[in-house]
Amino acid sequence: MQRIRLTNTVFEGLNNVYVLDGTADGADADELVLVDAGVALPAVREQLASGLADLGHDLADVDRVLLTHWHADHAGLAGAIQAASGATIHAHEADAPLVAGDEDSLLEEQRLQREKFREWGMPEETRAELVEFLNDHGDLGGEPCDVESFVDGDAFEVNDRTLEAVHLPGHAAGLTAFHDAAGDEAFVGDVILPKYTPNVGGADVRVEDPLGRYVESLLDLIDLDPGTAWPGHRDRIDDPAGRAATILRHHVERTENVVDALADLGPSTPWEISAALFGDLHGIHVLHGPGEAYAHLDHLAGAGVVERDGSRYALVDADPDVASLFPDPGIDRVVQWTGE
Ligand SMILES: [Zn+2]
Ligand SMILES: [Zn+2]
Repeated sequence: MQRIRLTNTVFEGLNNVYVLDGTADGADADELVLVDAGVALPAVREQLASGLADLGHDLADVDRVLLTHWHADHAGLAGAIQAASGATIHAHEADAPLVAGDEDSLLEEQRLQREKFREWGMPEETRAELVEFLNDHGDLGGEPCDVESFVDGDAFEVNDRTLEAVHLPGHAAGLTAFHDAAGDEAFVGDVILPKYTPNVGGADVRVEDPLGRYVESLLDLIDLDPGTAWPGHRDRIDDPAGRAATILRHHVERTENVVDALADLGPSTPWEISAALFGDLHGIHVLHGPGEAYAHLDHLAGAGVVERDGSRYALVDADPDVASLFPDPGIDRVVQWTGE
């Protein structure tokens, strides 16, 4: 397995494309399979082509692309790869229509976003700016393509290894890790990342109870316990279960911060809580900040700790036991990013 890093100026930093060509695994290089692509920009396509050339491959020789999720920085170039090579594009059934460029699914996702922006109490001017930003970057999602959808538990035979699809939603509805049990490793996309915690709530507004779903996925990953995880951004994660537990504890802390902010401010919108937590935001973070605040408020509402009235959330109990709202990850290790 080899890695190609692609530029990405909009989302979480450089994107990893993993190249499964069988060479490092000692098998015949029958098949050229990629895990994820990159944003659909001509310069990034060039980077991918030259990265493949460095490994002795041609973009036109790609047989299959396994997508971890629909986000433009992971799926954007899928259409261009397919146009050049005829590659089969695989995506989880929840994300497949968005990757395929299905008009109705794309419009529904946009409609839901705008509805959420209002619900989150985002000021009108900010909403207009954010919609403009999203429209300006719409092309990064790339051209439509044929997508073969998969479900949790489906297996892919790739050059003598078996990758099992493990559906781990939260950050995105179709987010999936590809687990190689024999090789004790998994390609995890944005399920866990080395430095940042993947956004929940803003990154895919289609997910219901995004924080609750994400916490379940973290527990599933802890259960799966791969020796190594290859994330969509940055470097290898050597203790994926420990990292998942660290992220889970981080969300408990963030929920405590949300409760503290509500106690300070009184009934508040996700937008106001986002401002208290994250301050002034720009670019894609105008989506991610209030989305994150909403995910935590919504989770608290589901537990009956806060009550929602229109766009505002209010504490029911002045001093709730936040830790009791989350499962214990059962792992004491704290994994922090020590790289650059
Ligand atoms: Zn993502
Ligand atoms: Zn990403």
